[in-house]
Amino acid sequence: MIVTVLGSGSNGGVPQWDCCCDNCTRARTTSGQSRTRSSVAVSIDGGQQVLFDATPDLKFQLEKTGLTPRPEEAEHGRQSRIEAIFLTHGHGDHTVGVAEFSTGKSFSIPVYAPPDLIRFMFGSQGRCSFFGDIGRLARNYVKPIELEEEKTVEPLPELKVSGFQIEHTDRLDDGSHFPSSTYGYEIESDGARFIYTPDIGRLSDEVLTRVKGADLFMLDATFWWDDELARVSGLAKTSYDLGHVPVEESVEILQGRGIGRVVYTHLNHTNPLLDPGHQAASILEERGFEAAFDGMRIEI
Ligand SMILES: [Zn+2]
Ligand SMILES: [Zn+2]
Ligand SMILES: [Zn+2]
Repeated sequence: MIVTVLGSGSNGGVPQWDCCCDNCTRARTTSGQSRTRSSVAVSIDGGQQVLFDATPDLKFQLEKTGLTPRPEEAEHGRQSRIEAIFLTHGHGDHTVGVAEFSTGKSFSIPVYAPPDLIRFMFGSQGRCSFFGDIGRLARNYVKPIELEEEKTVEPLPELKVSGFQIEHTDRLDDGSHFPSSTYGYEIESDGARFIYTPDIGRLSDEVLTRVKGADLFMLDATFWWDDELARVSGLAKTSYDLGHVPVEESVEILQGRGIGRVVYTHLNHTNPLLDPGHQAASILEERGFEAAFDGMRIEI
């Protein structure tokens, strides 16, 4: 299985459009330091791809990583290198890129997501919502599919995917999630196992059991410290308040769990991991863990 990191930044990417903090300035002025919104593409052999999340940067990510039609196959006309899309949850940085598919040829690309997210984005049969109707997206171009928890689908031959509930989005009084519930994805091929949770609020016992023995676990690195926003910008919200387990804690929890590679993604511009001189980077390295970067390619 080949995993290509299309983007490794949080909601606003790095740099954020209105920010000139040290991390954002470094990202603007140093080549290779910027991060688009988090997403990965998975394939068996580098051919057809399965996309996990569709970010506002999708079009540029596909161009940059070469996941576009091959010039030598031009005589076949328009082609999609994307075979299926799996969405983790309803936040904009993970979903709005699906609008990109409302142009060009219709490939009826399946879009799998938690059932409440499919209803939130696409509405119901015959009664489309904003996303369903934008550019006739769900009418003509993609096939929204409610993916039941733990149900395994095979979007590519020999590639199995299942979604499992994790904590991240807000819980409302009536028990529902706002704007949707959140899935982590377990992806398996030829004995290799990859768990993807770009946004995760807590490493519960269920999650820890699942990641044990995985070849690759890619997870949330929005904030290093729980009180990062208070430290950096005086905001009273903590990392846990916003549904992200802080890296300072997850590096300890994940030690000795028998995971092949632990790779952190979805970095916020405030995260000290973005500063190569900060001790956060050496703590990660000492543990044998890694920070993802745009264009990173992992073979498992
Ligand atoms: Zn996010
Ligand atoms: Zn910044
Ligand atoms: Zn989120």
